[in-house]
Amino acid sequence: MGMAHTAKLTFYRCLAFCAVLFVLTACIGSAPAPPIPIPTRTAIPASAFSTSTPVPTPVVGETAIPESSPEIQSVDLEEPFTTQEVLGRSTGGHPIEAYHFGSGPISVALIGGIHGGYEWNTVLLAYEMIDYFSEHPDEIPASITLTIIPEANPDGIVLVTGHTGRFDPGELAENTFPGRFNANEVDINRNWNCNWEPVAFIFEIEINAGSAPFSEAETRVLRNFILKNDVTTVVFWHSQMSAVFPGDCDAPHEPSRAVARLYADAAGYDYLDSFDQYPVSGDAANWLASQDIAAIEVELAERNEVEFEQNLDGVRAVLAALSEDASGAAR
Ligand SMILES: [Zn+2]
Repeated sequence: MGMAHTAKLTFYRCLAFCAVLFVLTACIGSAPAPPIPIPTRTAIPASAFSTSTPVPTPVVGETAIPESSPEIQSVDLEEPFTTQEVLGRSTGGHPIEAYHFGSGPISVALIGGIHGGYEWNTVLLAYEMIDYFSEHPDEIPASITLTIIPEANPDGIVLVTGHTGRFDPGELAENTFPGRFNANEVDINRNWNCNWEPVAFIFEIEINAGSAPFSEAETRVLRNFILKNDVTTVVFWHSQMSAVFPGDCDAPHEPSRAVARLYADAAGYDYLDSFDQYPVSGDAANWLASQDIAAIEVELAERNEVEFEQNLDGVRAVLAALSEDASGAAR
């Protein structure tokens, strides 16, 4: 017992001594080694910043990037850019404007007023959304670029208000129905290339769907913007049915259905698989679904109300789901 104990102690002492010796040798051995000693390194940054000598910059850059890049990102998050752009001109020559928020890789578009002055509340809703996200840029997830197009059919707005841009409901003409169409008297939401027919319907009323799919300037401006920017999700605001419909060109489009359900649940509107009150030809969301772009049509409950909070909840739900998908994919 005693012998064994002493032997053990000796063994550990030896081990400890060896370890100390090893560390010492290592230290002594490495001490004279660095040919690029500390003085040289501290001297480099000072001269690098003042004279930008090409040789030392990589060293400074390599050490600086990991520390400073999170700061650069957080600056971007605090101030996501909000930009305004004219996408093109309507048939009547009025600007079709877009407001962009954030700079993430997933592009989402919210479109008001495709039915112009007839559904003017969707234009005011879009302007309220623009104001809201301008004041709350932090609500745009980092993975999202949100674009809001308030007046997809400005000719129809001019017809009932006398001008483009923001308006007061008091300015509206008594009969807003003619404001549904563009300056060619074409319904922009019957001019897309899914089951297009030259004559379309609103209930039994025959309406002009244009001379061919995409014959109208407004349709082309919207289509080109969506395709050029790889917009993945498009929300069209209409009124009034208190329901949300997914794009569907003769075949259920699951991505559109998923977005429609999400929006309907959050906003408190009904979700409906398809619109069956009368045949719809040349519909925008249906064509987008045929291009595998998630598209929905949100029919507000009223024609004279903006229903902002409900729709903000709908938009928030869609943005949150898309950004979660993005972070899931990144993992
Ligand atoms: Zn409509």
